[in-house]
Amino acid sequence: MLKGIAASAGVSIAKVYKLETPVVFVTDEKISDVEAEVAKFNAAMEKTIADIEGIKDRATKAGRLSAEEIAVFDAHLMMVQDPELAGQIVSMIKDQSVNAGYATELVSNMMVMMFESMDNDYFRERAADVKDVTFRLKANILGVMIPDLTAIDEESIIVAHDLTPSDTAQLNEFVRGFATEIGGKTSHSAIMANSLEIPAVVGCAGVLGAVKTGDMLALDALDGFVVVNPTEEEVAAYKAKAEAYAKEKEELKVLVNEPSVTTDGHHVELAGNIGGFKDVAGVLKNGGEGVGLFRTEFLYMDAEDWPTEEEQFIAYRQVLEGMQGKKVVVRTLDIGGDKHLKYYDFPEEMNPFLGYRAIRLCLDQKDIFRTQLRALCRASVYGQLCIMFPMIATVQEFRDAKAIYEEEKAKLLAEGVAVADNIQVGMMVEIPAAAVLADQFAKYADFFSIGTNDLIQYSMAADRMSQKVAYLYQPWNPSILRLIKMTIEGAHKEGKWAGMCGAMAGEPNAVPILLGLGLDEFSMSASQILKARRIVKSLNKKDAEALAAKAVACDTADEVLALVKNTLK
Ligand code: PEP
Ligand code: MG
Repeated sequence: MLKGIAASAGVSIAKVYKLETPVVFVTDEKISDVEAEVAKFNAAMEKTIADIEGIKDRATKAGRLSAEEIAVFDAHLMMVQDPELAGQIVSMIKDQSVNAGYATELVSNMMVMMFESMDNDYFRERAADVKDVTFRLKANILGVMIPDLTAIDEESIIVAHDLTPSDTAQLNEFVRGFATEIGGKTSHSAIMANSLEIPAVVGCAGVLGAVKTGDMLALDALDGFVVVNPTEEEVAAYKAKAEAYAKEKEELKVLVNEPSVTTDGHHVELAGNIGGFKDVAGVLKNGGEGVGLFRTEFLYMDAEDWPTEEEQFIAYRQVLEGMQGKKVVVRTLDIGGDKHLKYYDFPEEMNPFLGYRAIRLCLDQKDIFRTQLRALCRASVYGQLCIMFPMIATVQEFRDAKAIYEEEKAKLLAEGVAVADNIQVGMMVEIPAAAVLADQFAKYADFFSIGTNDLIQYSMAADRMSQKVAYLYQPWNPSILRLIKMTIEGAHKEGKWAGMCGAMAGEPNAVPILLGLGLDEFSMSASQILKARRIVKSLNKKDAEALAAKAVACDTADEVLALVKNTLK
């Protein structure tokens, strides 16, 4: 049994599909039979075309990818069928007697260099496509198998070091979950698993070495365990756990279209956290009343260079349209800390979580910020947009950020571009200084969203990534509850709304207290929404207020938890 992090809820038992990226190694050995080598290349080319067509077909049938994502496969097909590519490789084989694999590598390197040096995003992105396609070609020349996740046709649990976004995009209905060596609750693969609603255990060190394809695996993504080749009793226990979870999920479905109202008529908003358009369907399917946090950093992290205004505009428009007029809170770039970019070197710092990140970077490198704000303003006419600045510590920072937004908005309007007139501009409250001064911030911000993931780490001086000090990660500590209380009261004093998009918002044991403290909006992963709704519907606002008052007067987190559990009983 191995311990990991339960990143996307569920339990499943299935055979292991061990995902390993193959090594494709070419040598510069010369050949004597040129015609045979050309024939070998042509055969590899045919197989590559058939492989990509197969992947495209299966991905299309699985119906999980957008048209845009499917189009990537068409681009790859066009590239591999481009006579220019094959022509150059064949000439090299014929003229220089190099082997097909080596010729492919040389031509690929040249094309990649050429694309990468171009002063145009579109062509620079093509370099990645050339690498992808020629990797397949070389593998087929050498007879090396490339794993094709779309070809999985029996119930499987994928075990991998990590899953890339394109790996996760290829998962079909036979995939019952995955376990990865690295990653945390908020890593890309975890967020994707939540949106696809498949169980996932991440950060499970040693799992890759502990399994081989075909082993049985019990994946407990409720408590974060992986059991390799479980005994009969273990299989029975996990099957029962899986059934209980599935039954609960089924029972919760009746709440999809219900309002989130307490027994005494108090309404709150239950929204979903998303990392991109892919997650929108999950939020709607689970009865989300809006998006309370769109983490735009994924747009930047998945790109090969700073995403352009146009690329961002398309992404924001898609999400706003997808949410069909429901509120969407888009957080401006929150990069730095543990989130890095391939194309930007962050300064070396002793404590990156306390360093140059998020709004600090955006206020320093204003062009990056302006591009994002312009894209957001342009997309605003396609839905109900709220813009939110991350990591705000001072009122001055908020004012400066808002002023840049106002400038870009005014410029667009002067250019004759339509911008919605109902955009709300708010901020994350995730630094204790902002919580303490919330009543002042509320004079400027249209709303707050409390980021407990960071608020707790900064309040307790306990790194959210460190296992050693994980015991200090205490959402129920009365000190945290008091900061939350101050934030909500600060907002309400100025007639503004207060939400929460940190992980605490979706914790069943936190919902009654947060409701009692007056939280207006709760934003969580889509799979948690219905459970939260069931809790809200079972509570009375007055009782919740009494509970919250008792909780903030407690000494310890354990006392608070005991109080809540007693109430929920
Ligand atoms: C938070 O800090 O609570 C939050 C929602 O932001 P992130 O987890 O992306 O830092
Ligand atoms: Mg944060």
